Amino acid sequence: MTTHKSHCLILPYPAQGHINPMLQFSKRLQSKGVKITIATTKSFLKTMQELPNLVSIEAISDGYDDGGRGQAGSFVAYITRFKEVGSDTLAQLIKKLANCGCPVTCIVYDPFLPWAVEVAKNFGLVTAAFFTQNCAVDNIYYHVHKGVIKLPPTKVEEIIVPGFSTIETLSRIESSDVPSFVVSPEAERILEMLVNQFSNLDKVDWVLINSFYELEKEVIDWMAKIYPIKTIGPTIPSMYLDKRLPDDKEYGLSLFKPMAYECLNWLNQQPINSVVYVSFGSLAKLEADQMEELAWGLKNSNKNFLWVVRSTEESKLPKNFVEELKLTRENKGLVVSWCPQLQVLEHKSIGCFLTHCGWNSTLEAISLGVPMLTMPQWTDQPTNAKLVKDVWEMGVRAKQDEKGIVRREVIEECIKLVMEEEKGKVIRENAKKLKQLARNAVDEGGSSDKNIQEFVSKLVTISQ
Ligand code: UDP
Repeated sequence: MTTHKSHCLILPYPAQGHINPMLQFSKRLQSKGVKITIATTKSFLKTMQELPNLVSIEAISDGYDDGGRGQAGSFVAYITRFKEVGSDTLAQLIKKLANCGCPVTCIVYDPFLPWAVEVAKNFGLVTAAFFTQNCAVDNIYYHVHKGVIKLPPTKVEEIIVPGFSTIETLSRIESSDVPSFVVSPEAERILEMLVNQFSNLDKVDWVLINSFYELEKEVIDWMAKIYPIKTIGPTIPSMYLDKRLPDDKEYGLSLFKPMAYECLNWLNQQPINSVVYVSFGSLAKLEADQMEELAWGLKNSNKNFLWVVRSTEESKLPKNFVEELKLTRENKGLVVSWCPQLQVLEHKSIGCFLTHCGWNSTLEAISLGVPMLTMPQWTDQPTNAKLVKDVWEMGVRAKQDEKGIVRREVIEECIKLVMEEEKGKVIRENAKKLKQLARNAVDEGGSSDKNIQEFVSKLVTISQ
């Protein structure tokens, strides 16, 4: 029987892009002897296709046990009720776990749920906020919270963000580079919640960020003067880092959707670096016009492509697109509804990732050394795309026209630049360098590994 040195209760916001990195982080803690319990909502548990190995999962309630966020109607209604019902049910869970032989000592919570700090303090527990966005994005929200970035900044041509001044390409950013909720007044209430992430942050013991020091040195150093920041990323599964955690049987993260594993066979038949992998993550919706331009851009690029089109987006594909693809003799393209993205990005046939720049996808591409063509849609994606293009120089950003659509010629041109042209050589080389830096960070003695080790050591001391 394993004797645990400490017990962490992990509270993710119930969304794919939030639970995935927290789950991977949990597994890493578990491998270092920490007992883990993940608390998620009853409604979210129902959507999971399989339960992860290694860690135990317990249900709390968001007040919408049958339909979760969808049942709530508005986002604000959801988050308000989640706070009320979630606080109570989380407290009940902590009481229940007091009898498990190793009581909870720490809550690692998603700052979308800042009320967790109050619950933890009532039980005398230590707390760690876990930011699933990178430090640059957090820094922007922090300055909105502080009133330094004045709202509405729609009229602002250039925004100066403290903490970015030492990074030449970020010292003045345009409104198209900040998270979408900062610039769109209709998203005021969502922005309020994002800004609220900082509301209890002065009471926490650690601020964990799914990024790594070498990627964002300047901003991390700057924010570390305000908060006890520890970067612990990239939180991708250990097998991708050539090191398997004990008992880690999970390959990829197919917790929520049926996976098209057959696309790996298709990739096996493609030459090295020949395929464009296209995905817009789990939430982004494209206009039908944009889907059409994308379809033609991919076809015209004459490259092989693997395109994830979620079933809810399928109807926007040009008529007969998938059927015609199947008829082409060269077998140039494959459309699937969901794929094992890490296995895909790791595959030697992939030469470019056309991405919406969700932070998980971006960090996965960095960790696996895949150059990017970015087409950010909303939320923090524009900022991530800015970092990819101008700070890390690991990709390009496809320009939209005046109607907000990226045209087929632009897509074709960008794909060629990233994959074959001399101009794209720096991007391809930087991708390799960043992959190495990411690995170094999580390797034994690397910056993130040290931070995790330090976190665990403190937990153990507290628990004694
Ligand atoms: N993902 C996947 N298969 C797919 C598309 C995406 O497993 O076909 C995973 C991807 O690896 C990433 C997550 O879904 O971990 C998407 O998170 P991200 O932050 O990139 O975007 P979001 O879905 O939050 O917009």
